[in-house]
Amino acid sequence: MDLQALQTNSSLHTHTVFCDGADDVETMCGAAYEKGLAAIGFSAHAPIYEKTGWETDWHLRDFAAYIAEVQAAKARWNGRLAVYAGLEVDFVKGLIGPADFERKGLDYLIGSTHYLTTPSGGRFTVDGSVEELERGIALFGGAESMVNAYWDAEEALIAEGGFDILGHIDLVKKNNRGGRYFSETALFYVERITRIADILAAVYAKRNIAVEVNTGGLNRGATTEIYPSPALLRLLRERNVPVILTADAHCADHLDGNYATGRGEMKKAGYL
Ligand SMILES: [Zn+2]
Ligand SMILES: [Zn+2]
Repeated sequence: MDLQALQTNSSLHTHTVFCDGADDVETMCGAAYEKGLAAIGFSAHAPIYEKTGWETDWHLRDFAAYIAEVQAAKARWNGRLAVYAGLEVDFVKGLIGPADFERKGLDYLIGSTHYLTTPSGGRFTVDGSVEELERGIALFGGAESMVNAYWDAEEALIAEGGFDILGHIDLVKKNNRGGRYFSETALFYVERITRIADILAAVYAKRNIAVEVNTGGLNRGATTEIYPSPALLRLLRERNVPVILTADAHCADHLDGNYATGRGEMKKAGYL
């Protein structure tokens, strides 16, 4: 698949009833077609229990059934809508990541950091509630340490590679509305996002990957802006890092949710 050709007219980050989404594969395909998208890609949360031993209620339970259903949709929609089979794979350093995932039957992988390992060996998710974020900040002994651990994890994910699309690059800001826990204009934060942009620019010279412009936070009311922040998006543009617009859709209605905002930010940053 040509990620550049699908930059603003596809929805490749989607979840269905196979994991934590609300709609089934066929409903999602029908909606994508109605919305005039050129392609839909399914990116169920890859199973993690085997590698981590963590019980969750939002990861894929039946991998074989999922792949069979997406492949059947691919055949059904042939000629009208491009359908791709993917997975969103969690990265937890030393435990699991896209690099050790078998790609059998899959067109692409999204690599995402949702969990951080805490200094005492526990875990917390930056993709949870405000209370969960506060628990994480306490476990790290402060917001700046937690944020640095997040960007360390992103750097490790990029170094290990094995994915085609980097998911919600600055998810760490999810519950940081109005700079409630840390300042995204503080020197340490600006240094981290500049460094990640430099790393991605260097990696892109060797691999064909794209960074998401993800409207999922807006679609679900968790954030007031896209991932990445406009500031980080500009840094990526200055370094010619390719991006792709996605919605992190957990229902059919959201397949192109806030795409106008996403395209607007891409334009402002100089991508379109
Ligand atoms: Zn995610
Ligand atoms: Zn997702």
